[in-house]
Amino acid sequence: MILWRQILRQNFTRWEKLADFLELDANQRMMILAKPNFTLNLPLRLAQKIAKNTLDDPILRQFLPTVEEERQTSGFTKDPIGDVLSRKTPKLLHKYQGRALLVCTGACAMHCRYCFRQHFEYDGADNAFKEELQAIADDDSIHEIILSGGDPLSLSDSVLQKLLMALSAIPHVSRIRFHTRFPIGIPERIDEGFLSLLQETRCQIWFVIHANHPSELDEEVLNRLRLIQRLGIVILNQAVLLRGVNDNLETLKSLCEKLANHGVMPYYLHQLDPVQGAAHFEVSEMEGLHLHKTLAGELSGYAVPKYVRETAGEPGKTILQ
Ligand code: SF4
Repeated sequence: MILWRQILRQNFTRWEKLADFLELDANQRMMILAKPNFTLNLPLRLAQKIAKNTLDDPILRQFLPTVEEERQTSGFTKDPIGDVLSRKTPKLLHKYQGRALLVCTGACAMHCRYCFRQHFEYDGADNAFKEELQAIADDDSIHEIILSGGDPLSLSDSVLQKLLMALSAIPHVSRIRFHTRFPIGIPERIDEGFLSLLQETRCQIWFVIHANHPSELDEEVLNRLRLIQRLGIVILNQAVLLRGVNDNLETLKSLCEKLANHGVMPYYLHQLDPVQGAAHFEVSEMEGLHLHKTLAGELSGYAVPKYVRETAGEPGKTILQ
């Protein structure tokens, strides 16, 4: 079996095993949501970065289902950014001018508790993307395809290769953008096979990763990202502003500096999408604006991400600062 798939099999998916691994005590275990709708899914590599015997850890907080998720909060919904309204085919979302988003798969290397697509009804049908490719071919206003999900790197190289080739065969598609968090949890996914398929398309590839905390970016992760950069592909990062994870200047500054030191552009800092079950992650916009302003005062301009919010029905993201 391919190495990254073997590693994926080591993910924590049972809370008892994770609680044992993290040496959580009885009181801490009481806080865990045993049967969440959005299941526990945490790569071993990330679990190894978590402090033992505490729930107060910025990595753990992102992945551990807790009873806080059961809190109903007004304004927090199952489809916070209007995915359903923009669904053109089962796997194609067309929200913004010039680009469309392919929900390639529902699978991810990890399950982030704040994910805005955690309630999305993924289309589990085959991976041929026939209807989607036809819809893209029929609309010559679409120049960029965002491969999202789920995580597009969950797909096999052969499925990805066929998809890239099919997209490249559509004359008006110029750019293909990967949105992935996979390399943060399982950097081994960036292997020879994947690197070679990136070089086969005539389209310009853009690569957008998702890291929220500097400790997610270890040497192995950065080394694998460098292999992509060596192909002349620009890598950007999106982060989400999360309570108890990165809602302080020191963490955000360290994240942005680490990204900039390795040629990864800190692209967006997202205001939390108000998805049901994630209200405990919310940082107010006022607090976010203050943090961002202070951050901008301490870093070079290119190292400061845009602070943005996505609102259902809007023609683009709202830049808060
Ligand atoms: S990796 Fe991305 S798509 Fe998957 S759960 Fe996390 S935020 Fe959602």
